[in-house]
Amino acid sequence: MNYHILTLFPDMVLNGLNTSIIGRAAEKGLLSIEAIDIREYSSDKHRRVDDYPYGGGAGMVMQPMAICDAYEELCGKLEKRPRVIYMTPQGKVFNQKIAEELSREEDLVFLCGHYEGIDERALELIATDYLSVGDYVLTGGELPAMVMIDCISRLIPGVLNNDVSAEFESFHDNLLEYPQYTRPEEYRGLQVPEVLLSGHHKNIDIWRREQSIKRTLERRPDLLKEAVLTKKEAEYLKKLEEELENRE
Ligand code: SAM
Repeated sequence: MNYHILTLFPDMVLNGLNTSIIGRAAEKGLLSIEAIDIREYSSDKHRRVDDYPYGGGAGMVMQPMAICDAYEELCGKLEKRPRVIYMTPQGKVFNQKIAEELSREEDLVFLCGHYEGIDERALELIATDYLSVGDYVLTGGELPAMVMIDCISRLIPGVLNNDVSAEFESFHDNLLEYPQYTRPEEYRGLQVPEVLLSGHHKNIDIWRREQSIKRTLERRPDLLKEAVLTKKEAEYLKKLEEELENRE
């Protein structure tokens, strides 16, 4: 996977991403992260890339020329036109399923806006996807791009030491992950559940699935509509729902 980030703040994304697991994956050549400074493509002598909005209103708008020129130069280098994901609060909210789909691409361009956003014509010309990190407004698209890149990268084979760990995490099968424990066996009077110390793998698997279902019902019941459950697990969920109803 090769990430190309169109940004006004290349240091911010490079410093953020070239650390820890993603940084090590880049060092190993499992992925590459390129920050393209939009200002480098400005024809203005002060390297300005924004201007006042037509029609008036607060703030500044990023002009289309430098953004489109930066993208066209990249396309020339790559000899293809990769997908351009515009980071915007107006986009579809990013989730694990979208991350899985994007992780199959060879090249991805993340376009980060700033100020009041980007001139609509640049988006019409180059943006293929509109994604948001949530229903709130940030000052720029850099943090959203970093969030998405981090999430997508974990799904690339070899990035995590243990490939199965991404497979069984929260949102897999539309369930949240079960509670995790490590040493010591007892901490401030709180014990690790007995079953996890038993070495009985089948019982551990059943316990974990049940905990996932219980936790999802308590914390994110909206996910359960699409959860993939066996007949036994569906019965377990029904029992939990009845218990919850009786308690209320
Ligand atoms: N005026 C824009 C609007 O109301 O939709 C918001 C502009 S915002 C202050 C500046 C930039 O931050 C946007 O162009 C976008 O790239 C980024 N941004 C802000 N909130 C975001 C979010 N929730 N998800 C993704 N990007 C976001």
